[in-house]
Amino acid sequence: MRIDVVSLFPDFVAQVAGHGVVGRAGERGLLSLHGWNPRDFAEGNYRRVDDRPFGGGPGMVMLIDPLRAALAAARAADPAPARVVYLSPQGRPLDQAKARELAALPRLVLLCGRYEGVDERLLAAEVDEELSIGDYVLSGGELAAAVVVDAVARLLPGALNDAESAAQDSFEPPADGKGGPLLLDCPHYTRPVVHALGAVPPVLLSGNHADIARWRYQQALGRTWQRRPDLIDLTALSPADRRLLDA
Ligand code: SAM
Repeated sequence: MRIDVVSLFPDFVAQVAGHGVVGRAGERGLLSLHGWNPRDFAEGNYRRVDDRPFGGGPGMVMLIDPLRAALAAARAADPAPARVVYLSPQGRPLDQAKARELAALPRLVLLCGRYEGVDERLLAAEVDEELSIGDYVLSGGELAAAVVVDAVARLLPGALNDAESAAQDSFEPPADGKGGPLLLDCPHYTRPVVHALGAVPPVLLSGNHADIARWRYQQALGRTWQRRPDLIDLTALSPADRRLLDA
């Protein structure tokens, strides 16, 4: 997969995201990351990339033309069709299903805003979708782009050493393909068996794979209900059970 990042700080995304699994995905030839700086496509001595907003008010707005030229260069660098994503607090919230969808694409172009954002006409003409990484405002799209790169890269086949580990992560659909709620991951333990902070649950030492799978499912279900009840369809419960839960 190829990911191009259009940003005033194009190296920043690679520096933040390019370690561990993402770095390895690059070394294994699964991912190539490229940066494009709109300032390199700006004209004039000052290579201006922003200007004051029409209608007044604080802040600056990113100009259409340098961004458009940078996007065109990014698109032209590879013949595969690219989906252009603008990182924006106004976008659809990023989730694991979206990360999977993006990881199946041959190419992605991530557009990072700065200042008050980008001239709306550029967004309307060039952007396929807007993605947010949460209901808060960052000063630039680079950290959000790094989040997308990381979430996508670890899903590329061969990026993780243990193919199982992504499938068992939080928010992944059940492995049997029969549907069901997206659960949070179960708790994990490693050596030592007994520590001053507590002991490992005995079932994990039992060697009984069916018991271990059942315990992990129960734990995942329980903590999903406790921490993220919005992920579970509680309407399937009887009114009496609902009352118990709400009590
Ligand atoms: N005026 C914009 C608004 O209120 O919607 C915020 C602009 S923000 C200061 C500058 C840039 O940071 C945005 O253009 C966007 O690229 C990025 N950004 C900020 N918050 C983000 C978020 N939650 N998710 C993704 N990108 C974000």
